[in-house]
Amino acid sequence: MAQQSTREAIALDKSHLWHPFTQHRDWNAPEHEPLVLVEGEGALLRDSEGREYIDGNSSIWTNLHGHRHPKIDAAIRAQLDRVAHTSFLGFTHPLAAELARELVALWPANTLTRVFLSDDGSTAVEVALKMAVQFWQQNGHPERTRFIAFSGAYHGDTMGASSLGGISTFHGRFSAWQFPAEHVASVGALDTLDSTTIAAVVIEPLMQGAAGMRLWPRGMLAELRRWCDEHGVLLILDEVMTGFGRTGKMFACEHEGVIPDFIALAKGLTGGYLPLAATLTSERIFNAFLGGPDRTLYYGHSYTANQLGCAAALASLAIFREERVLEQLAGKIDLLARLLGKPRGQRYVAEVRQCGFMAGVELRRTEQEAFPADQFIGAKVCLAARRHGLLTRPIRDTIVLMPPYCINEAQIGGMVSALATAIREVCGG
Ligand SMILES: *Cc1c(COP(=O)(O)O)cnc(C)c1O
Repeated sequence: MAQQSTREAIALDKSHLWHPFTQHRDWNAPEHEPLVLVEGEGALLRDSEGREYIDGNSSIWTNLHGHRHPKIDAAIRAQLDRVAHTSFLGFTHPLAAELARELVALWPANTLTRVFLSDDGSTAVEVALKMAVQFWQQNGHPERTRFIAFSGAYHGDTMGASSLGGISTFHGRFSAWQFPAEHVASVGALDTLDSTTIAAVVIEPLMQGAAGMRLWPRGMLAELRRWCDEHGVLLILDEVMTGFGRTGKMFACEHEGVIPDFIALAKGLTGGYLPLAATLTSERIFNAFLGGPDRTLYYGHSYTANQLGCAAALASLAIFREERVLEQLAGKIDLLARLLGKPRGQRYVAEVRQCGFMAGVELRRTEQEAFPADQFIGAKVCLAARRHGLLTRPIRDTIVLMPPYCINEAQIGGMVSALATAIREVCGG
């Protein structure tokens, strides 16, 4: 792409677009030159000036097998020759049916047997919330209405999903318009609540993402499942980030032998190609919705079960099997852990938190003291890393490393050393 068109794209962007999670005074400032991404291949992205970068956060946690994977590309192209999208309200199609079968087959028999398709992580969570409320209404416990989430939780940005959110910067302003949800910091704290009026507990298992890549104590998820069983409360797992291999197993909950009542899946479902989400639940929940029109779940979106998205998701699942992705990933997870030992030794690296193929590198001025928020250290480090060929995004001063699974060993090394160099350049030490 010529320099001319890069400038034109940036000018048009600044004239007309409104970006997510972005302060446009800064974005639109004349000296800010947004990166214009135009191509990708494997773990790499290319900008409009031909510069290459490692996609260090998998294009905001979505990509699994790399960009332009031949199998996913071919599956989408083949589907385009048939039809791109048809309504799922009153109709079905073979790809959605096959995808549901394959998603259910990832779980032990007779556990999660029903698949509800929607568009993104937020909607995947919201449909679980609505199902949980209506389930109790139709199952003799209309008093079970409360939702419990965890401190620091992030479950999406729509009004409903953000009601569960526990990050005040993102969610605080809208609290008067959100439905009431209560937050606890641990499983133990649940015992202070009247469990008989709780509809469901919602959690990001193993690692909270947007909270800053925060790890839960080992065994906590199994403990939560036991608590929910004891008190007859439904358990909703938000595996929008952790699902599809990120933790080293297909789903995070497998690490603790937990099966939820609902699981929300999105980001990686299509390999990071197209917006598609799935909410899985059990036959017990599903059966409570059978009967007259008053038992119908009145919920859906125009693009539910989009045919191109389903084709991409099926291809992604095929890649897991055919390329033995999880087996290949185990060695890369170990390598990432070994290499992250180096920045860990750096003066301002307070903590490295890794779960499978996701890591957060937290920068602090001292052990006790964060950098002042107005120094934007995390953002500056990511900008410096970009000059060394690494793209990622911070959560405040925690730098996220979450590359596509197809990344090779040399690229993993390049990613970590780009980050280490950037930290030195910005923080010194
Ligand atoms: C990204 C994310 C969501 C929201 O998904 P969207 O597709 O952005 O709506 C929800 N939960 C978790 C854990 C996420 O990481």
